[in-house]
Amino acid sequence: MSAFDNAMTQLGLAAEKLGLKESDILKLREPNKVYEFDIPVQIDDGYEKIFNGYRVQFNNARGPYKGGIRYHPQVDLDEMKALAFWMAIKTAVVNIPMGGGKGGVSVDPKKLSKSELEKLSRGWVQKMAEHIGPRKDVPAPDVNTTPQIMAWMSDEYAKLTNDSSGATFTGKPLDKGGSEGRESATGQGGFYCLDEITKRLSMNPSQTCIIIHGFGNVGFHFARLVHDAGYKIVGLSDSKGGIYNADGLDVDDVMRVKKDKGSVINYEAEKIGGSAILEKQCDILVPAALENVITKDNADKIKAKVVLEMANGPTTPEADKILRDKGVYVVPDVLANAGGVTVSYFEWQQNLASEHWSESDVLAKLEPIMRKSFNAVWKAHEEHNIDLRTAAFMLAVKRIVSAMK
Ligand code: GLU
Repeated sequence: MSAFDNAMTQLGLAAEKLGLKESDILKLREPNKVYEFDIPVQIDDGYEKIFNGYRVQFNNARGPYKGGIRYHPQVDLDEMKALAFWMAIKTAVVNIPMGGGKGGVSVDPKKLSKSELEKLSRGWVQKMAEHIGPRKDVPAPDVNTTPQIMAWMSDEYAKLTNDSSGATFTGKPLDKGGSEGRESATGQGGFYCLDEITKRLSMNPSQTCIIIHGFGNVGFHFARLVHDAGYKIVGLSDSKGGIYNADGLDVDDVMRVKKDKGSVINYEAEKIGGSAILEKQCDILVPAALENVITKDNADKIKAKVVLEMANGPTTPEADKILRDKGVYVVPDVLANAGGVTVSYFEWQQNLASEHWSESDVLAKLEPIMRKSFNAVWKAHEEHNIDLRTAAFMLAVKRIVSAMK
């Protein structure tokens, strides 16, 4: 099943519990606007290459469209629609006044030079400038898009529109209007969710083993925080494969090796395939890479008691059901990884008000939002005797539908 089909199945489960009207469900299933465009880029050795660019503006009933831009070979319209829909749910779960959107380019950015990457990023903005803006649509980083890329995009937007507020892109570098705490925000928000669920399940950090699948920006910051809090990280992986050590791995050491040699697999530890690592012994499994990694084919083999979704869409609906039947708690993406977009919202507020908040101010605002949202989802899960994803969707869908009216 495609990512968008999965998203619609998740919506269907919540809509059924809510007793939503068919006309409301139909409105929630349709993106408001879909942009698909060519981005011509002059490649360093002279010829012109065309890349496929996307932006899906799914729902803006609760505020401007909000969501990242992904650079990945797997990017296509179906994936963009799913991710944009999940953003609308996510902003509603944490109750920030923004909608949902997503963009991307089908490209392997590791194969581009820095100047080609800059041209591609500016090219995306040239195609989208009239459709985005502080009150319309506010993009941000996602898989493989960095603060530097946001700086190029924000600069291109300012040149094309004379809007120098910086409030059209979030996730910018600090000296270009970025927010303190934005780079680690997704990991930080996930950490608060981890803290909430381990307390409820009486799991003690020092006796809790964690495996993290994906060691990009999100996986790394999350790993660092849980490591510092005394949890034991026993497995880590990236796109090249994974490593496992039942006695625990040192996150900073692993990161050093990844930076020097390109992958975690060069670290001195038992090597294990990137997907095999999902099935290794641990208490908490953290998918932090891409969609559809926990499926009907491997869900049964997962040993963790908790799956904390730091990636978007890592678990398919069939896998969800298998995990639920096994008594595994899945803390859903739309809650667990919402720290990133929440701090993006703070960045947008700071840009609009020409303010710069300290890191402690940012964290002091993020923490209660994450804990309160977790609590609300947990309460709905208990009250209705449903899984955490359906609980989160119910809260979000109610808010979106009421805003649409
Ligand atoms: N790409 C991130 C996400 O999937 C952040 C989006 C944002 O900050 O707008 O939540």
